[in-house]
Amino acid sequence: MDWLGSGVLERRLTPQGQPQKTWSQPTDDSIWHGHLSLASPGQLAAAGLTEDDPPSLWQHQGAWIKPAALVKALLKHEAIELQTRAEVETLHRNTCTGEWCLRIKNHIAMSNMGRSHTHSTETAPHVVLALGAHTPDFLNQVLDADAMGLHPIAGMVSWGLMPAATTPALPSFAVNGHGSFVSGVPTTEGAAWYTGATFERNATTTAVTASGHAHNHQRLGQLLPLAQQRLAAQWSDASQLKGWTGARCASINRMPKVGLFDETQFPGLHLLSAMGARGLTLSLLCAEVLACHMDGGPAPLSEKLMQTMRCQPTLT
Ligand SMILES: Cc1cc2nc3c(=O)[nH]c(=O)nc-3n(C[C@H](O)[C@H](O)[C@H](O)COP(=O)(O)OP(=O)(O)OC[C@H]3O[C@@H](n4cnc5c(N)ncnc54)[C@H](O)[C@@H]3O)c2cc1C
Repeated sequence: MDWLGSGVLERRLTPQGQPQKTWSQPTDDSIWHGHLSLASPGQLAAAGLTEDDPPSLWQHQGAWIKPAALVKALLKHEAIELQTRAEVETLHRNTCTGEWCLRIKNHIAMSNMGRSHTHSTETAPHVVLALGAHTPDFLNQVLDADAMGLHPIAGMVSWGLMPAATTPALPSFAVNGHGSFVSGVPTTEGAAWYTGATFERNATTTAVTASGHAHNHQRLGQLLPLAQQRLAAQWSDASQLKGWTGARCASINRMPKVGLFDETQFPGLHLLSAMGARGLTLSLLCAEVLACHMDGGPAPLSEKLMQTMRCQPTLT
């Protein structure tokens, strides 16, 4: 229901949809050995491709996963207490106790009565700001701090319910490399396909737009011409085409930002953000990096990589 370790076909296309430089099978001593291989004729055929197309890769351990299911599973930890609908409005450090004091607006939705809210406070010696695309505004407006060049990138995914039996079938595995495509995903409305996403820099817009669908449609045509063909009827019928939008947080060097925010001005205040469009895989690793740092344990990454992930104000 929530994930499928089906392997992933990676098409090697440039942002313009052109073939990238050729790639050869990894040798036994390569770090890619066992993770990646050239896609077999059978895998290509299942995606409607042939050996005459630019070479594609097969990621053996690739999978699709529903983010909400992953998050829900991770939250099942005895040390985690979840407070939803709780918006941190302000925070300040109590200089006597050294603790951070968070003012929280608790949103309440009452059926037939609109919305209301209460306020509460929480205190803690350490706070981790993990606010996704809201991070730059929070740093600027609540902490009056430099946003380190972090910026939002709005995105839209197009999706629809699987059409009645198509021949040949849509690929049973996920495909990426120039946008992505996944089909046969169980939802409460029936099995669905998804493709996308758009990238709109410095935007947090959440409207589903015809231009977003058009962009995703055009890229699907380059990624998987056969799938685009199979879904043509759905794409021309607005009532069958659905959209999902969200905003990512990105940094200037495209690396996540993890660690103490500014030890001198904000001791005990940490950041975990800017995972771009890779939060599914990066979030666990970044959480481990942060936990090791807070515990004083050895970092799970090289110093060189850690440097690229440091929270540093932009030079003015
Ligand atoms: C269209 C699209 C497609 C994507 N596709 C992929 C993909 O294929 N693979 C992948 O790995 N990633 C993908 N991503 C990226 C992925 O969603 C992000 O990397 C990930 O969600 C980042 O996690 P986060 O916890 O940093 O931020 P978020 O998931 O954005 O969570 C931040 C949370 O903080 C809350 N918050 C903000 N301000 C406050 C406040 N003041 N008080 C309390 N709470 C607050 C927000 O409500 C939100 O719940 C995609 C994103 C988009 C938009």
